[in-house]
Amino acid sequence: MQNIEKNLIAIKQQMETAAIKYHRNPADILLLAVSKKKPVSDIETAYACGQHDFGENYLQEAEQKISALSDLDICWHFIGAIQSNKTRVVAQNFDWAHCIDRFKIARRLSEQRPVSMPALNVCIQVNVEQEASKSGIMLSEVPALAEQIAGLPNLRLRGLMAIPAPADDFELQRKPFARLREMLETLNQKGLNCDTMSMGMTHDMSAAIAEGSTLVRIGTAIFGERP
Ligand SMILES: *Cc1c(COP(=O)(O)O)cnc(C)c1O
Repeated sequence: MQNIEKNLIAIKQQMETAAIKYHRNPADILLLAVSKKKPVSDIETAYACGQHDFGENYLQEAEQKISALSDLDICWHFIGAIQSNKTRVVAQNFDWAHCIDRFKIARRLSEQRPVSMPALNVCIQVNVEQEASKSGIMLSEVPALAEQIAGLPNLRLRGLMAIPAPADDFELQRKPFARLREMLETLNQKGLNCDTMSMGMTHDMSAAIAEGSTLVRIGTAIFGERP
């Protein structure tokens, strides 16, 4: 049995410790609870502890959870890859989409965003280590895509997201996050007003905070190992 309440307290404590150590304001870092493959009851438990933001990767599963929990005031983040035939589901159900890597997807999300909803918050997923096998775009492609997305009426470009390859060494973990931070600075010099660095998971959260993360995506440390 996982004790979700204890885990949430512990992870917030770790976030605060890292923030203070690296001269960050703890209030500037949002905890996104990644509930993929976990039951609705786990989300209800975390919500009862004051957790407000939840992340899901699988659309079918997410749709069911969002509908089952529609009475709760949850901010839903889609943190999986989006295929072009699935953009409507994302546009109609989520507050955030973290893994945008093509203009075509962004344009469809903007077109399909219901007028009754506020703009969809989006991040561009960056393949910071330029690994052939990974999703996300190359760093060099980010400024052009960011400019294009910023012109879409029903999206709000919030910033950048990355999932670096796992590394054990803290200093090695920091490197890709630092590259993402430099790119965010570049975008802001162009006047794009980005405020979000979606980076850091259970195993590399503190390194991400050291490099300026404003949103950590934590699953295992809150809900336990996934099946
Ligand atoms: C699953 C997942 C997470 C959470 O990972 P943990 O290691 O369980 O904290 C964060 N971000 C993305 C994109 C994920 O797919």
